Amino acid sequence: MRAITAGYDRRAPAVRDATLTVSPGEAVGLLGPSGCGKSTLARVAALLHRPDSGEVVVDGTPVRRWRHRAPRELRTAFGVVFQQPRLSADPRLRLTDLIAEPLRATGRRASVPGRVADLAETVGLTPDLLTRRPHEVSDGQLQRACLARALVLRPRWLICDEMTAMLDASTTAALVGVVEDYRASTGAGLLAVGHDRTLLDRWCDRTAGWHTVTPPGLVCGT
Ligand code: ADP
Ligand code: ADP
Repeated sequence: MRAITAGYDRRAPAVRDATLTVSPGEAVGLLGPSGCGKSTLARVAALLHRPDSGEVVVDGTPVRRWRHRAPRELRTAFGVVFQQPRLSADPRLRLTDLIAEPLRATGRRASVPGRVADLAETVGLTPDLLTRRPHEVSDGQLQRACLARALVLRPRWLICDEMTAMLDASTTAALVGVVEDYRASTGAGLLAVGHDRTLLDRWCDRTAGWHTVTPPGLVCGT
């Protein structure tokens, strides 16, 4: 990301002139106090939020053709996990369908059963949990499903925005381990947003604080 200014009000951008590079295979932490613009920058990185100015370059190619997001064929290179599980608008969907949704949305129906079973095992969801609906499982189980869904299209880039902020220590360790294994086996790059320096330092190769993202800096919004 080069010289990104982004937010929700052009007169008071949440992110000002932020520059941050994540290389293939690299794990970069983004650390800073609540409200300073980390999530906004993460959503720009995931091509889910169009910056007001600046450029997002993915695999050497600047992203053009933004609407409020970038086109889906570019976004499928990214797997994204948020702090709050963001699943489907349809509360009747079972975890298995939620995990499979990106496959179906991109026309890869044939690979659904095998891929969902593999990922469920990877993230530690038993078959009986897969048939439940989001309100029938714990926060940790739901976040395991969200991570499985983020990985289902085998993204080259992972964006984890406070992925473990709501989770207990053992679930946190399990999910960080899943991301680590995925990166080790695929060479995917990671941008991990958090407020816990200890966790990010352990998890990431380097950590950019809101004051060190660049000069001139990811300036806190007001
Ligand atoms: P962080 O992730 O560091 O907590 P955010 O990127 O979520 O920071 O928020 C940066 C600023 O943008 C904050 O002032 C926040 O209130 C504001 N903001 C975040 N999301 C929205 C939104 N959807 N609409 C308007 N303002 C928002
Ligand atoms: P549309 O462009 O039609 O709004 P969406 O962006 O909603 O499509 O994508 C369709 C489905 O695929 C949604 O369930 C969405 O969560 C999922 N999806 C899309 N991109 C990703 C991604 N990078 N990682 C994980 N799931 C994704």
